[in-house]
This record gives sequence, C-alpha cells and structure tokens, in this order.
Amino acid sequence: MERYLVESIHTEEDCQHVVEQFIIHGHIMNFDWGCHAGEHKAWAFIEAENESQALMSVPPNLHAKARAIKLNKFTPESIEEFHK
Ligand SMILES: [Zn+2]
Repeated sequence: MERYLVESIHTEEDCQHVVEQFIIHGHIMNFDWGCHAGEHKAWAFIEAENESQALMSVPPNLHAKARAIKLNKFTPESIEEFHK
C-alpha cells in the first residue's frame, strides 16, 4: 500500500452540491475542507495500491478536478544520501 494525498477542487458556487455528493459517495469524513477559509478544495490522506484507486475516494463526476499525489517520507538518513 502507498500513501496518497487526494485533492478535489470545486468553486464557491458548487460548494454545497459538491459536499452533498461526497456525503452520498460515503467518503465525506475522510476529507478536510478549506471552504470556510475561502479555499474551495478538499484533501484526504488515502492508503491505496495506485493513483486511480486513491481517486475512488472522490465522487466519479468530480474526477476531472481531482488528483492523487503519491507521498514519500524523508528520513535524516535519506537526506545524508542526497549530499553524497
Ligand atoms: Zn467549498
């Protein structure tokens, strides 16, 4: 399993509709939202096998405005490797 940051973007006009779609889709509680700060995006950390599986957390009709970024960790040791 890999860890992904899933980002879903919408407009202020679509806000309520998009939130409702996430509720119907069943992943509403996985996501944190920027809406009240004027940043109409939702983010979630999702464990998945690949990018398309990670995107399944987003309602299908919102996939065009969503992306999944595969995450890695850096350790102090890996930073030392960079400098060699
Ligand atoms: Zn919003």
